[in-house]
Amino acid sequence: MTAPKTSKALKSSQKLSQLVKKYYKDIHEAKAQGKKIVWSSGIAPVELFHAMDLVPVFPENYAAACAVKQISQDLQYYAEKAGYISDLCSYFRSDIGHVLSNCTYLGGLPKPDLLVASRNLCTTHVKWFEVLSRYFNCPLFVWDLPFGTLNKKFAPEFHRLEYAISQLHELIKVIENITHCELNTWRLQEAIFLGDEAARLWIEINESRKNRPAPISCTDMLGNLFVLVTLSGTPIAVEFLREVAKEVNNRVSNKIGIVSQERFRLLWDVMPLWHHMELFDRFQSAGAVFVVELYNYGRVWGQRLDCAQPLESLAKRHLTHMFNIDMDSRVKLLREILREFQIDGYVNHVIRSCNVLNGSTLHLANKMKKELGIPTLTLESDHCDSRAFAPAMIENRIQAFLELLEANQ
Ligand code: SF4
Repeated sequence: MTAPKTSKALKSSQKLSQLVKKYYKDIHEAKAQGKKIVWSSGIAPVELFHAMDLVPVFPENYAAACAVKQISQDLQYYAEKAGYISDLCSYFRSDIGHVLSNCTYLGGLPKPDLLVASRNLCTTHVKWFEVLSRYFNCPLFVWDLPFGTLNKKFAPEFHRLEYAISQLHELIKVIENITHCELNTWRLQEAIFLGDEAARLWIEINESRKNRPAPISCTDMLGNLFVLVTLSGTPIAVEFLREVAKEVNNRVSNKIGIVSQERFRLLWDVMPLWHHMELFDRFQSAGAVFVVELYNYGRVWGQRLDCAQPLESLAKRHLTHMFNIDMDSRVKLLREILREFQIDGYVNHVIRSCNVLNGSTLHLANKMKKELGIPTLTLESDHCDSRAFAPAMIENRIQAFLELLEANQ
């Protein structure tokens, strides 16, 4: 099956596909030149990897790219044939399938020299990376980041912060053993400086969506996230996001929106249906635009960093994002988002193979519906497994939701 076309509104975002191709080419060249490769879970101290000449590769990102390309089903077939049942996370099944089938899309992923899994989103990552560690006979470092509460300034408790920083010191030792190169403090500060600038631009782009009409689509935003996940800490990310920010600001000044008539402003929670990104176009055709995706806005990526305290700021970012904090702090954050972005409706994607996020996002959606009377749409499908996509049922629900929004207006 070929990938359906989805609309990207921005010229600058359209450069993304060249950047993605170059990234995959570069990681293979780096491996051939003897550089060390780290496979990492998606929420990671990527700036530290770049500072230490470790080439970061992200299986979740690759799984999403395979879903957009419509080849995930083939990969998941290999995983399921090897005994990994279809209830397991489809990111995981796509990744294992890519390994077992020697998938060559975008050249596949070069073999890892180190695996790093963080525990700040879900425990699936740890088990997943244990499987990879056995398969490749490769060392695994688990960054243990306990869930916790935040104070009024959205800061983590001191003991959690100290614990997270101490593990970063351990990680640095592990990387030094693999690369045979000591951490250069200047290089770390440079990477943190560039990571901070990328975050500043990312926040600026997100904030621009408070304007009516919203200048950038969620398809652009979710695609551009690739740059932040893989290349934060490099000049490439800053250069790319600077162009996007410039174009977005220009569109705000000239009141150019994603659709000719913006009627409803929506929030999307959590991952998209990577295999059916054109679903967003369906909403847009009715004048309904997504102006926030919690997946990208919930302080997960794009939090400001501090060159003077590089490790502390990396640890803080990983301890305070939306998926690693207590429910009261999430609700507080969400209330602010709904008000500031003038959200008319809340769309919650219940992901069949991700039991981790489903519980919390359903709770949040119900709370918002009860407390604030926000119309809510729950879509049941999957981020990477298109077998869980029922087009007729989804279309019916979208139609009913749009009618509800209309009536509410
Ligand atoms: S959070 Fe969900 S989608 Fe992400 S790796 Fe864990 S199980 Fe998979």
